[in-house]
Amino acid sequence: MEHVDVAVIGGGQSGLATAYELIRRGLKPVVLEASDRAAGSWPCYYDSLTLFSPARYSSLPGMPFDGGDPDRYPHRDEVVAYLTSYAAHLDADIRTGSSVTEVHPDAAGFILSLAGGGRLSARAVVAASGTFGRPHLPALPGLEQFPGTVLHAADYRGPASFAGQRIIVVEAGNSAVQIAAELATVAQVTLASRHPVKFARQHVLGRDLHFWLKATGLDTAPLGDLLRTPPGQPVIDEGRYRAALAAGMPDRRELFTALEDRKATWTDGTAEEIDVILLATGYRPDLPYLTGLGALDATGRPRHRDGASLTHPGPAFVGLEWQRSLSSNSLRGVGRDAARAARRLAHRP
Ligand SMILES: Cc1cc2nc3c(=O)[nH]c(=O)nc-3n(C[C@H](O)[C@H](O)[C@H](O)COP(=O)(O)OP(=O)(O)OC[C@H]3O[C@@H](n4cnc5c(N)ncnc54)[C@H](O)[C@@H]3O)c2cc1C
Repeated sequence: MEHVDVAVIGGGQSGLATAYELIRRGLKPVVLEASDRAAGSWPCYYDSLTLFSPARYSSLPGMPFDGGDPDRYPHRDEVVAYLTSYAAHLDADIRTGSSVTEVHPDAAGFILSLAGGGRLSARAVVAASGTFGRPHLPALPGLEQFPGTVLHAADYRGPASFAGQRIIVVEAGNSAVQIAAELATVAQVTLASRHPVKFARQHVLGRDLHFWLKATGLDTAPLGDLLRTPPGQPVIDEGRYRAALAAGMPDRRELFTALEDRKATWTDGTAEEIDVILLATGYRPDLPYLTGLGALDATGRPRHRDGASLTHPGPAFVGLEWQRSLSSNSLRGVGRDAARAARRLAHRP
């Protein structure tokens, strides 16, 4: 069986940034990526998506996000091109079409099983497989029996096929508000959530919000549960989404109390027929290959501190939401956590 030093599971921004930091420390990572290219989940995000941070605050370690005005908000496809170029410039062994199905401990570290039957052993493992493969589907009253269309934001690409429909978008985060406003240009849309929408201004005193997050240290502060508890992170907005909601496109209501057949019942007791329910209800860590190892809790979340496994020496996590701070799960912040994981792995025998 082939033995590698460090196996990095996932070839998105988290896996690539970790590979960069491992190589810098003289290690030889092998990046195992399930899909056919190393650009993470970005190619699957909805068509109109642009970054919420300007290019100047959106780079991975070792390669600036160049190619134009540093204050522009790059489109999804530009991010895909940036990650593809980043992967190409890494002196790393990146193996696409390599989906890890299981990780087991062994004397030399870990044995990794791959879909299709291959196996390899590794001294250490970095889990950098993101969350996009595990959309969170909440239990809502009557949802399972709803005869209309139910989809998660992960499956949404654009509004064209929804023209003329009556749609409920569930939740009030960035994706929910952006998708609901886009759909409202072709359909009748309600944004339904338990909490009101909170907004944060994209620009404050003439500077982008990310300038201030960096300048104040909030971006990397270990605020943990302080900010993540409901009502959650605000929608970053220059005014466009606030105006759309004020104009009723979409309108915003408390979450429905029941779904019966095609009808949703609102908190005021009125009911109406709905065609589509779109759940913009977030994601969870996608780590099924670690279940057998016992590295996860009952909800499938990793047991870790600052990205180091609490159950086994050797596995590291990179790219988790709030792994160490607000920016952990972002282009601008993942490099900091990747460096920490690489430092730890470089010092382990
Ligand atoms: C809609 C949306 C918009 C966002 N917008 C921004 C933004 O504007 N700015 C920002 O900084 N962040 C943004 N984020 C957050 C974050 O930066 C992205 O989610 C980013 O894609 C996370 O990168 P990642 O590498 O951790 O995970 P992913 O991009 O999901 O990459 C994980 C990779 O692991 C692979 N993989 C999964 N399982 C396995 C396995 N078992 N074996 C091998 N490979 C596997 C997948 O194929 C994938 O390529 C956004 C997120 C979403 C969902």
